[in-house]
Amino acid sequence: MKDVQRLLIENKAWVQEKIQVNPGYFEDMAKGQQPTFLWIGCSDSRVPPNEITGCHPGEMFVARNIANLVIHTDLSLMSVLEYAVVYLKVKHIIICGHYGCGGVAASLTPSSLGSIDKWLRNIKDVANSNWGELEKIEAGAKRTDRLVELNTISQAKNLTHTAIVQKAWHEGRDLYIHGWVFDMATGKLKELTTIDKTFPIPPAHQYKF
Ligand SMILES: [Zn+2]
Repeated sequence: MKDVQRLLIENKAWVQEKIQVNPGYFEDMAKGQQPTFLWIGCSDSRVPPNEITGCHPGEMFVARNIANLVIHTDLSLMSVLEYAVVYLKVKHIIICGHYGCGGVAASLTPSSLGSIDKWLRNIKDVANSNWGELEKIEAGAKRTDRLVELNTISQAKNLTHTAIVQKAWHEGRDLYIHGWVFDMATGKLKELTTIDKTFPIPPAHQYKF
């Protein structure tokens, strides 16, 4: 119980800190949100999106899952995406992987881990599509880290295959998709790709509106 009590005590201190700087802080926050960013990241506890980007409450809408995957049958993520793009009108979607990702590392092993195999299978598909490059890298941390990058870029492309993103572009909205990777050994974010409305979408993934 001591661990959980610490969180509640920290919360009280945080409230005090905010009120001291701005007595109306929470009244303002309760009025609504207008986030500019949607963050899709890994659930890893070492990659807290607001903290590593200096974003305040209200600035970033967040979805996290193991290995930051964009799966078209994931109703939770698709609902987050739709709400963020259509209703909150975010301008930037950041899909962020991180070096040393346990989910990506697990996808490169032949071990069966139970139900999570089905989730990791999506990363195995990315690995298979890029095996010519990956097999030249020594198995272990370096190969995992390259797959982290390739997976992040692949998930960014998956976002462009959704009707939600394509419709926003069709309507002339400024919406950008950024693929980033977080290096927890340095604390730094690295840009891998930026995608805008000019990105070529394969014919079978194109929607007409
Ligand atoms: Zn991870």
